[in-house]
Amino acid sequence: MEPRTREDLDRIPGYRQGRSAGDGGAPSHKLSSNENPYDPLPSVRDRIAEVLGRINLYPDMAGAVLVPELARLHDVDPARIVLGAGSVEVVSQLIRATTGPGEEVLFAWRSFEAYPLLVVSAGAEPVQVPLTADLAHDLPAMLAAITERTRLVIVCNPNNPTGTTVGAAALEEFLDAVPRDVVVLVDEAYREFDTSTDRPDGVALARQRDNVVVAHTFSKAYGLAGVRVGYAIAPPVVADAMRKVAVPFGVTGLAQAAAAASLEAQGELLDRVLALVAERERVVRALTAQGWDLPPTQANFVWLPTGEATDRAVEVLERHGILARAFPGEGVRVSIGRDEANTAVLAACAEILAGVT
Ligand code: PMP
Repeated sequence: MEPRTREDLDRIPGYRQGRSAGDGGAPSHKLSSNENPYDPLPSVRDRIAEVLGRINLYPDMAGAVLVPELARLHDVDPARIVLGAGSVEVVSQLIRATTGPGEEVLFAWRSFEAYPLLVVSAGAEPVQVPLTADLAHDLPAMLAAITERTRLVIVCNPNNPTGTTVGAAALEEFLDAVPRDVVVLVDEAYREFDTSTDRPDGVALARQRDNVVVAHTFSKAYGLAGVRVGYAIAPPVVADAMRKVAVPFGVTGLAQAAAAASLEAQGELLDRVLALVAERERVVRALTAQGWDLPPTQANFVWLPTGEATDRAVEVLERHGILARAFPGEGVRVSIGRDEANTAVLAACAEILAGVT
């Protein structure tokens, strides 16, 4: 007899990590996980080193240094801030704090791969509303899909993996129409890369509305994917519920120290973001000139709509030393890296297009 596990887990695959650089031995640019291509700052490394002498002790669960700094930065009550081991853990906490069996979590699809996995893990039902033909959130269809069982709606802005965004007015209108007992998560993992003039301010929405939660991460713009730290700003009752379901001591002292040091180095880190945004614009301009029809991206990645030719596209990219994230039958997501990596992407994309047409 086999040990028994939950049958409903058969419905979901495990989370797929983008391949690691160096797999297969080829020289490679790892552009498969939307990571920050810059090396950690010396000031951040030094702060982590200070904590190394205390790793025999449990970390501070309340985030006594980091939480007040975040509260100041965002002008919110510290009681509204919830830390997690990456924003994916914050999303997981929110799903488990708001839903359970027989209840629904609504989100656009395609979007961040972890959403359906976390929802099914919580025993709840994922309701996936297809993106529009332009690969953006279909907010009217999402509203229409809300039922009395809906407990949580997720808006991923910018959307992973398409990079498309919801504008401020459209989001406000959507929030006005969502029932007040349904929580809305605005997942802003890529917000720092969004330079559109009508970018919604998720934090302001979370401050103003009792059912809005915003999630941010230190993994992307701040370049701390390896230490795992993210946070939510939530209404106090929701924040309390999230802390109850959090894994105790989930956010390490190393992660908290790195995040606090990164906030102090914000100017320098945001200059790097601007450099990545400039590179994104260069890549988009060049791909458009090559003849690619791309969805407009405001994130640190581009979506190549390669459809049935996706496997071949990934092969060509790999031949050029690029690891990207394939979505078989749909497209390829390629992160923006350092200049040299992006130039290699452009050469590969010209070759892909020559084969497709
Ligand atoms: N939200 C979105 C939309 C993401 O794409 C990701 C990472 N790929 C996350 C959350 C989680 O990132 P992390 O856990 O590293 O903060």
